[in-house]
Amino acid sequence: MTTETLVLGAGIVGVCVALHLRERGQSVALIDRNEPGEEASYGNAGLIERASVIPYAIPRHLPTLLAYASNRSAAVRYAPWHLPRVAGWVLRYWHASRHDRLMRSAHEILPLIEACLGEHDRLIAEAGLEHLIRRNGWIEVFRSIAAQEAAEARASALAEFDLSWKVLDRTALSAAEPALTERAVGAIHWTDPYTVSDPGALTKGYADLFEKKGGSFLRGAIAGIRKTRTGWQVSTDSGIHEAARLVIALGPHSVRLLEPLGYRVPLGIKRGYHMHFRPEGNAGLSHAILDEEVGYVLAPMEQGIRLTTGVELDAPDAPPNRIQLQRVERRARELFPLGQPVEDTPWLGLRSAMPDMKPVIGRAPLHEGLWVAFGHAHHGLTLGPVTGRLLAEMMTGEAPFADPAPFAMERFGKTPQLNTVR
Ligand SMILES: Cc1cc2nc3c(=O)[nH]c(=O)nc-3n(C[C@H](O)[C@H](O)[C@H](O)COP(=O)(O)OP(=O)(O)OC[C@H]3O[C@@H](n4cnc5c(N)ncnc54)[C@H](O)[C@@H]3O)c2cc1C
Repeated sequence: MTTETLVLGAGIVGVCVALHLRERGQSVALIDRNEPGEEASYGNAGLIERASVIPYAIPRHLPTLLAYASNRSAAVRYAPWHLPRVAGWVLRYWHASRHDRLMRSAHEILPLIEACLGEHDRLIAEAGLEHLIRRNGWIEVFRSIAAQEAAEARASALAEFDLSWKVLDRTALSAAEPALTERAVGAIHWTDPYTVSDPGALTKGYADLFEKKGGSFLRGAIAGIRKTRTGWQVSTDSGIHEAARLVIALGPHSVRLLEPLGYRVPLGIKRGYHMHFRPEGNAGLSHAILDEEVGYVLAPMEQGIRLTTGVELDAPDAPPNRIQLQRVERRARELFPLGQPVEDTPWLGLRSAMPDMKPVIGRAPLHEGLWVAFGHAHHGLTLGPVTGRLLAEMMTGEAPFADPAPFAMERFGKTPQLNTVR
């Protein structure tokens, strides 16, 4: 056995799991078909979301639901032919979105959210990645005073979570972000979160740190895994690798390896797009901007101003569809002078999302030496380092810094009784 643990998937989650295991003296190899951080961990909006204490639930507000159902909303779009395939997952998501259940999930995830900045801070410092980080929060802008007042009421209702935020009137907003047009009448500035100007580079930087500490990175497309007498075998297009233990951290692709072993995990996929734009003239942004009423984020990135969309429900391998980006681009141009696009084609990424809005972190209950970390949905960049820490603590027998029970795979049942949703 040359390697104690093989971590499958070098997105932010797999990289952080591998790094934390290596820091605990394990011999660890990380495998990916790409270089680290080239899928969802590259294309996200770059928010290290200390302020997102409530998971993204299905709203119970009738006008919003009707807007979603009409399929004209910029925030959520669905391919009608795909809906029957994901109906079970959507229903379970709806069930978990009821206020009392949602608040229970929020409190279960809270220890991870509370630790997210500190865990990133340590890795950022050790990996020398300070240049990628802004510690000035993000700004939620409003197109009407009524929308702003409603958002202030929602923010006030989060008092128990002790978040830092301040109201910006039009004058204060102009001072913070001079390039925003008059269409933005005010804002809430959430000051706790960090933003990352190149999330892919952050993930690669953490992967470099893992290698510097003695971990190895292997390139290979994983075809399958097999339990052997002494551990696990992973077949890839670059050869077979063996280890005593495996961690599956393949984001939305994790279930493909779990299904043949008898696990039916209800993982759904929320697609999302981004496109970079050059700003017009001297316009720029110092913060990431969320236009909650429409449903997109504008973030200043190394590559340009990154416009990221909300959720698209369609088959993971369906070709990119420009509708949602076109909708948000038109609305974003009302707020900010976006110039020419940097790329010809949009980037499309997949978020792996569990219907109860919590990631899956822990052991695969039917198999010795098999561990998992996926399902981080909208918050994988935020939660990568804390996930790495929690799983490594569980795997090495340390006392976990947070209760891992809410993230156990067993919550979906030990036997193949639940539908997998692609
Ligand atoms: C538009 C958008 C905006 C987002 N914004 C934010 C945000 O602002 N803040 C935040 O916290 N989160 C955000 N997210 C979510 C975040 O990006 C994800 O939760 C996170 O990147 C998940 O990390 P991961 O490591 O689980 O998955 P991934 O980054 O998808 O990594 C999975 C890895 O597995 C590898 N892989 C898959 N199959 C195979 C195979 N067969 N063989 C070998 N390797 C394989 C892939 O190459 C990939 O590197 C956003 C997501 C999207 C799509």
